[in-house]
Amino acid sequence: MNFSLEGLRYEALEAQLAKSGVNPVHAKPLFRAVQRHLLRNDLESAEGILPPLQRWLASEQAVKPCAMELVDDTASSDGFTRKYLLRLHDGTEVESVQMGFPGRYTACLSSQVGCAMGCVFCATGQMGFSRHLTAGEIVAQAHYVERELRRTQGSSLRNIVMMGMGEPLHNFEPTMEALDIITDDRGMNIGPARVVISTVGYIPGIQKLTRHPKRYSLAVSLHGASDEERGKLIPINKRWPLAELLETCREYSAIKRARVFFAWTLIGGVNDSDDHAQRLAELLRGMDAHVNLIPLNPTEGFDGTMPTEERSQAFQKIIQDAGIPSTIRQRRGIDVAAGCGQLKAKRVKRTGRKPGINVPISGSL
Ligand code: SAH
Ligand code: SF4
Repeated sequence: MNFSLEGLRYEALEAQLAKSGVNPVHAKPLFRAVQRHLLRNDLESAEGILPPLQRWLASEQAVKPCAMELVDDTASSDGFTRKYLLRLHDGTEVESVQMGFPGRYTACLSSQVGCAMGCVFCATGQMGFSRHLTAGEIVAQAHYVERELRRTQGSSLRNIVMMGMGEPLHNFEPTMEALDIITDDRGMNIGPARVVISTVGYIPGIQKLTRHPKRYSLAVSLHGASDEERGKLIPINKRWPLAELLETCREYSAIKRARVFFAWTLIGGVNDSDDHAQRLAELLRGMDAHVNLIPLNPTEGFDGTMPTEERSQAFQKIIQDAGIPSTIRQRRGIDVAAGCGQLKAKRVKRTGRKPGINVPISGSL
């Protein structure tokens, strides 16, 4: 079975119960136990779980909780970030990151094992693609972080960002199922606006998101202000060029009445000049946009460098003066390699094992 209890929307849980001859009214306490109290092994004795449900849970037909085992847990020296490497049922591994401080905790979740988009500066892109995650595997990452926060801090998650390994819009349905579950007010109840979906510019996915009933926050990774420059960093720009991407973003912003966030990874001497900043401002003119400037986190497979602090600030000033709000992302958690895919990349290097080769490829590109 390639799905798990955590990945069933309320209605899907009702349908599963009905299929096994259990009255779907039992979905309510079970959904609550799984999605609000985050129970896994002790479901049968949870509040409101009556004998018919206990029998189902113990039966062969029951949908099981997601198999997920902690492999590595690293805390940054500034105490801001914790990074979990989690092993899934087939031995593949994904990372989830917890960031922030009491009252403001964010979980950064993965959507795929590896990534097919091949961005040259990104550790996940350098690994290649192994498989898509199921909705249950995405929800279970949020549960993992939330459980740790409750246990160690007596606190809860406030935000979710789909900025871990993988391209979430290349794995559209499972990602949407997962986020609809995480934002369900019968479960974790995280507001959709507090959920950020970060995309490399996967246009068909942005178009589907425009029509999706919930309004999640959209972040689009740009990093280049012309097709030529962007294409060198992000190969899929050749398929979905800048003009078309920005048009799709404008449409999203207009229909959803939402601000679009743009990420710009600043790479020293590559895309951090005044000229780049001016051309970026030009591209976004008139749009309800916010730019997140991310200094490059250097990776082994790419010989780019971080920009200087003065350069980052000069870049920011130019877009700010052009009326575009922006934030320079703090390089927090850098000592645990909390950049995209980096903990996993480090482990793979240590063990000499190559991801994506010794695992079955179950997703399609
Ligand atoms: N695939 C999605 C989401 C995951 S990557 C996307 O590309 O948007 C999340 C963000 O981290 C993206 O903006 C990506 O460009 C950025 N990123 C990846 N590797 C990085 C690195 N080495 N240094 C700085 N930012 C990086
Ligand atoms: Fe994939 Fe995003 Fe990394 Fe590009 S930056 S390779 S889309 S995870």
